[in-house]
Amino acid sequence: MPDDPQHTRPQVQKGVAQPGNLNPALRQRKVRKPPTTNEYVEGIRRGDRVLLSRAITLIESKLDEHRQQAKEIIEACLPFSGQSIRLGVTGSPGVGKSSFIEALGGYLTAGEHRLAVLAIDPSSQVSHGSILGDKTRMGKLSTSDRAFIRPSPAGDSLGGVARKTRETIILCEAAGYDTIIIETVGVGQSEIAVHSMVDFFLLLLLPGAGDELQGIKRGIVEMADLVAVNKADGERLQLAKRARQEYRNALHLFPPKASQWIPQVVICSTLSGLGIDEIWQLVQEYLVSTKENGYFDQRRREQARYWLEDTIKRQLQYLFYHHPGVQSRLSAIQHAVVSGQMSSFKGAEELLDLFAKDPSEK
Ligand code: GDP
Repeated sequence: MPDDPQHTRPQVQKGVAQPGNLNPALRQRKVRKPPTTNEYVEGIRRGDRVLLSRAITLIESKLDEHRQQAKEIIEACLPFSGQSIRLGVTGSPGVGKSSFIEALGGYLTAGEHRLAVLAIDPSSQVSHGSILGDKTRMGKLSTSDRAFIRPSPAGDSLGGVARKTRETIILCEAAGYDTIIIETVGVGQSEIAVHSMVDFFLLLLLPGAGDELQGIKRGIVEMADLVAVNKADGERLQLAKRARQEYRNALHLFPPKASQWIPQVVICSTLSGLGIDEIWQLVQEYLVSTKENGYFDQRRREQARYWLEDTIKRQLQYLFYHHPGVQSRLSAIQHAVVSGQMSSFKGAEELLDLFAKDPSEK
């Protein structure tokens, strides 16, 4: 048969009625209208995971019209948010973060809980490969209908990635997820961003390796409400117990926390399940204690203020660099400053004046 595309279609003899299209969907295919903001919000509220995912995609989009609709959805979801427990989980690559979240997630979703797992991994922008990994993560948990797992958004900066995650938390809470885990790698600045959006911060460490070896900065240990020495199984169990004692001694030396909570150190194994329920118990104790002494609400208020300021700064920066007057002078001034003909302060002043004269210039 000749290699003619015509022969790939059903052929009938002349005079016989032409058959209909073999694939009726082809003819019926209509251009589907994207959901309205109301449809998104109603879908999210009834726990429709497809609409939730699509709304998060709008948050992550670079298109202005998507961002605008995302803002409307977030505003509409805001009254239904805030009721969850937000947990940050950090630790070096390979310490067992995904295994731990899978184990804790299994424990929680076997009960009454509904869990959303979000990630902040700015490394994917820098190295074009992600530290949190493209490996299949949390295989079992991802099949549970009580769990929702979303990988780290792409973004041009840590700040951008963090803001998107913060907004995603609101949608997940409105969708009825009562526990939100934010996972990040404990090697950079990202845990500071995570700290600004969670109630409780858990640091996973390995037995028998010093902080320096694990690439963990002192500041991160200081932020932790709970340190869990993971992989406490087999021959590492004894090592883990020793590490637990060492960390207990070390944490003692840190100044008391504003929450009045004394950070705890435990051992755990995602392999044997050791320590998982104890960790959840400690999270509960923390919540009771900080809700009682007012720290819980105070911290959420501080976080809201932080994000207000962060959003203003970002928006101002965006408007400044997209201002036509600024754009037309920027490279000349940069050149003058770099070549020493103009001071940095004078250059900045001239550009800021251009912007301040008519900030809305388009
Ligand atoms: P992540 O990079 O921090 O997310 O680490 P993973 O969860 O991917 O775990 C890294 C490796 O450690 C994997 O091979 C896991 O099977 C292993 N692992 C994780 N938790 C445990 C544990 O409790 N005990 C042991 N023996 N291995 C573990």
